[in-house]
Amino acid sequence: MADSPEIPTHYDFGEVEGRWQRTWRDEENYFDPASPKPGYVIDTPPPYPTGNFHIGNALNWCYIDFIARYKRMRGYNVMFPQGWDCHGLPTEVKVEETYHITKNDVSRDEFRRMCRELTGKNIALMRSTMRRLGFSTDWSHEYITMLPEYYTKTQRSFLQMFHRGYIYQSEHPVNFCTRCETAIAYAEVTYEDRKTTLHHFDFDGVEIATTRPELLAACVAVAVHPGDERFRSLDGRKLRVPFFGHQVPVIRDEAVDPTFGTGAVMICTFGDKQDVHWWKQHGLPLRKAIDRQGRMTGIAGGYEGKRVEEARAAIVGDMEKAGILKGQRQLEQRVGTCWRCKTPIEILSGRQWFVRVKPDEILKAAREISWIPEHMLIRLENWVTQMEWDWCISRQRIFATPIPAWSCRKCHAIILPDEEDLPVDPTEQQPKRPCPSCGSHDAVGEEDVLDTWMDSSISVLHVTGWDGTGAPPLFPAQLRPQGHDIIRTWACYTILRSVALTGQKPWDDILVNGMVLGEDGFKMSKSRGNIIAPEEILAKYGADAFRQWGAGGAATGSDIMFNWNDVVAASRFQTKLWNIARFALLQLDDAARSEATPVTALADRWLLSRLSDTVAEVTQAMEEYQFDRALRAIREFAWNVLADEYIELVKGRLYAKGGDRAGAGRALAITLDTLCRLLAPFLPHFSEEICRHLAPDAGSVHRQPWAEFSFSDPEATRDGGRLVRLASELRRYKHEQGLALNAPFGSVTVYGLQAVEDAGDLGRALNATVEWRTEAPRLERVVKEVRFHRAVIGPALRKQAGAFMEAVKQLPPEALEAPPSTLRIGDDEVPVPPGSYTPVFSYRIEGAAVDVVTIGDAVVAIRRGS
Ligand SMILES: [Zn+2]
Ligand SMILES: [Zn+2]
Repeated sequence: MADSPEIPTHYDFGEVEGRWQRTWRDEENYFDPASPKPGYVIDTPPPYPTGNFHIGNALNWCYIDFIARYKRMRGYNVMFPQGWDCHGLPTEVKVEETYHITKNDVSRDEFRRMCRELTGKNIALMRSTMRRLGFSTDWSHEYITMLPEYYTKTQRSFLQMFHRGYIYQSEHPVNFCTRCETAIAYAEVTYEDRKTTLHHFDFDGVEIATTRPELLAACVAVAVHPGDERFRSLDGRKLRVPFFGHQVPVIRDEAVDPTFGTGAVMICTFGDKQDVHWWKQHGLPLRKAIDRQGRMTGIAGGYEGKRVEEARAAIVGDMEKAGILKGQRQLEQRVGTCWRCKTPIEILSGRQWFVRVKPDEILKAAREISWIPEHMLIRLENWVTQMEWDWCISRQRIFATPIPAWSCRKCHAIILPDEEDLPVDPTEQQPKRPCPSCGSHDAVGEEDVLDTWMDSSISVLHVTGWDGTGAPPLFPAQLRPQGHDIIRTWACYTILRSVALTGQKPWDDILVNGMVLGEDGFKMSKSRGNIIAPEEILAKYGADAFRQWGAGGAATGSDIMFNWNDVVAASRFQTKLWNIARFALLQLDDAARSEATPVTALADRWLLSRLSDTVAEVTQAMEEYQFDRALRAIREFAWNVLADEYIELVKGRLYAKGGDRAGAGRALAITLDTLCRLLAPFLPHFSEEICRHLAPDAGSVHRQPWAEFSFSDPEATRDGGRLVRLASELRRYKHEQGLALNAPFGSVTVYGLQAVEDAGDLGRALNATVEWRTEAPRLERVVKEVRFHRAVIGPALRKQAGAFMEAVKQLPPEALEAPPSTLRIGDDEVPVPPGSYTPVFSYRIEGAAVDVVTIGDAVVAIRRGS
């Protein structure tokens, strides 16, 4: 031990974690393109640089880091990149909030500069939290989607998909957020339950119920069910729209619910998705009553310029004045809202860019990917098969990848740049060539920008080295880790784009993690005040305790409810592990550290066979991404098998000068080394600290191979198991008898077992002389006392109870063992109530009093005294 630094009694996580984080070098985690090792590329999620690496991110990254560290130890050349998905609404909204502006208050350039600056600051903040959590990120593969080297690839992918017929431009109704002033994809609409009012009013003699009377100006038809006889008189008629005067047809359609409202509905362009269906199906005209800022347009007459809610209130007021309002009632309604700002979405028609969704292509590739957990594939399948609209990829925002396109001012043809001319910003640059259709040099740059998912859905192409020519060399990646909340966006879009651009699936496996819920069981949110920041946990308990919480909190894919008690338990386990390791380290002499030292004693072989089982279990769990199962197996082994059972059993041998001390030391050395490797992916700092004490010259545990320890010894498993059980149950018995665990325990004879070659461990563990006998013990049994059950005797015998117990005590021993049916008390013959007493026996062997304990298939006799 002379050359090992001193081992402190207390594990100071702050000191240890800080020291290792300063010692480890980033280069150690770099993917090496020249390496002959098999590659393992992880397509990690690029988070939005909000500046706040939240607990959900942290859980996701814990999973990624467990895998990256494990795979490196398994001999893979691992790429664990870090991306930043900068563009799009989240950052713009944040800039608008931070500077109290809207995007229209400053120039395009100035707004972009503000976004870039905020993004840079936020990335720095999040990087530092990630480092503090001990992630083994490959910082040489960091990518930032707002930089030209990345978004050039986004633009290149746009051009290629356009040329392959995946991208088109069209006038079509899309989901629109009037607060964010942009189209959003169907996948970005979230639904909320809200209360709204259903207004009944007279529509040219027909009573109609609607929740959106302000859309009257956009009314293009009235619809009723084909079988609804109440409206027979309306067939072939046109109705006059109140206040606006235009005539609309009455149509019959199966989709009308005759039991809702009055059974007649107005079709407006557009109140909801159903309106879009009817509009297409019946070839109805388009009347745009709401503009992109959420205000009423010119066709709304006197309501022009009013916001939607103002217009609604005004028109209801006017209906009342005109005497056409027939009634109102409250209604529960599911409202589609913008996933970023929660504003109810409008469906507005406009010229937008779309990616064609081909469900069969997506599903075919998705089914070639291994989904963990498996049922997450069903979520994708459900989403893809019910998708009715193509993916709208144009956004009316600023801070995003420009759509690389112009339109000819003369003939309106689309003009695209060549790939070698990328990146381009068509709002600032002119096309290099004239219009391919008419030869005009007069082109208008596209002002719309791309959906941010267009950037992030090529992350896998970027990290595998895509240069625009088919599938890159490292493609497909081995793993995509992500949350289940973005299956219909990030997972779905990535598969779609990979198939379109390479004809292949993007990854071999996709690992889907759950969400972290607050202590109250609800999703963490500012309004609930149940947010826990990783930094708070790090300060109190350190990175390894956090990581252990993440690993053990729930099965992979399930949501985890945050609970401080779980973090405290993780921290306690760390303390226990430290005490175990410290004890073991102090026992390790030169013999223990020497590979030549044989391990022969039963208990030592038993420990190694249990260790071998643990390695197999943990390895299998890691291969299946079941981190909770892996950690449970490690914990069970370290705490129960090693500390409570093995060390308690062999402590005496380790402390004694004689006996097979070296074998126990050797078993401990092997066990500690193996445990360090098993723990390394989960507790990188802690395992590094122990490993350096154990083998100061061996270098980092993170550069060492995964635990390969295998030891098969069925006899040791069986007999060692018996030995351990005897020791622990007899120690418990000793404790129950009020004896100190190190007090002399006399002589202990184990009957019914072959002599176990235990190297004297049982005797030392009990402080007793131990004898093994194969035969059954010849016991003399004596009734020592009688235990009465007053709950039975009292109600049955009442006043005679006392006399009854006295009479029982007088009975001869044979009668006590087989109770008579009646007893004579005074002059009465009293029935003996069943279960009224139990005789308590004492035992003698060869005339000496002994305690007898049955443990498994052995009977143990203890003759007390020294
Ligand atoms: Zn919005
Ligand atoms: Zn032209």
